[in-house]
Amino acid sequence: MAEAAIEIRDLVKEYAGSKNSDPKLALKGVSFDVPQGSVFGLLGPNGAGKSTLINIMAGLVNKTGGQVKIWGHDIDNDHRNAKLNIGIVPQEIVFDPFFTPFEVLENQGGFYGIPKALRRSEELLKAVHLEDKRNAYARTLSGGMKRRLLIAKAMVHSPPILVLDEPTAGVDVELRKQLWELVSELNAEGVTVVLTTHYLEEAEELCEQIAIINHGELIANKPTRELVGMMGEKIVSVTVDRDVDELPVDPRFHKCEAAGERVIEITFDKSEMTAGQVLAKVQEQGFAIEDVSTREADLEDVFVQLTGSA
Ligand code: ADP
Ligand code: MG
Repeated sequence: MAEAAIEIRDLVKEYAGSKNSDPKLALKGVSFDVPQGSVFGLLGPNGAGKSTLINIMAGLVNKTGGQVKIWGHDIDNDHRNAKLNIGIVPQEIVFDPFFTPFEVLENQGGFYGIPKALRRSEELLKAVHLEDKRNAYARTLSGGMKRRLLIAKAMVHSPPILVLDEPTAGVDVELRKQLWELVSELNAEGVTVVLTTHYLEEAEELCEQIAIINHGELIANKPTRELVGMMGEKIVSVTVDRDVDELPVDPRFHKCEAAGERVIEITFDKSEMTAGQVLAKVQEQGFAIEDVSTREADLEDVFVQLTGSA
């Protein structure tokens, strides 16, 4: 088995309370591995503990307990090497507005002690499609350009792991597409990518493996296909010719509910029955069918099932 890019064991974080707030257990003993070379999704609703976890990996937040290894280097015993092997794009955009993109990257290179001749500032500007903004003030860049500059900044020391904390929160569709292309390009070059998101479709589309956390606990960690296939459910939505008084019943239905005055929504397992058999049940109940649509269960359904919340 390939060694993990990131190893997280029994990670606990308690934020100290203050006069106005109780202590907060933000991570309650989380363990998982991020495989080398993967695009790994860390999924969870707001307040789940995603940023806390990432900020611990980045050395910005002190953990209360547990171990974290970055590319084999323990963040406690081998802090320096752990830091050298990871690049982090934080959730909040922070820049000195008076530096140009080129200067931002040069300063970061200096921060990592990379000699001028070995810095990759030009190459990185090109990689994030900002070469024509080389000398613009950072404050004149659009939100999307700033995000891309932050990605370049995180890659200055050529780490094998790139972590993006909610890179597409508040970002428009076009820019989101650009960001994902960039992530795919970096991954194709061998970079292990970890990203957090609360957009389920996004994780489903991009990530090979997905860990889900909720209230500081890991509730799933599986290859995306398995997670989606876990349910194997299909949902049929049937529009009938009259108001729904009594719903059809079948022991194979996982769920059957009125989704409107004349719409019945039935959830079933593809391995147990066919959509045709579902429709036959509806007709047996004395309804004529006017319209039908079906869809496969997606991550959203899986997530609702796992967390028991919408
Ligand atoms: P996410 O990134 O998944 O939205 P966070 O890691 O930001 O979640 O937060 C997890 C929990 O920890 C939340 O309940 C949040 O209010 C709390 N929290 C985060 N940062 C702090 C802090 N500096 N002090 C106290 N509580 C915090
Ligand atoms: Mg967060």
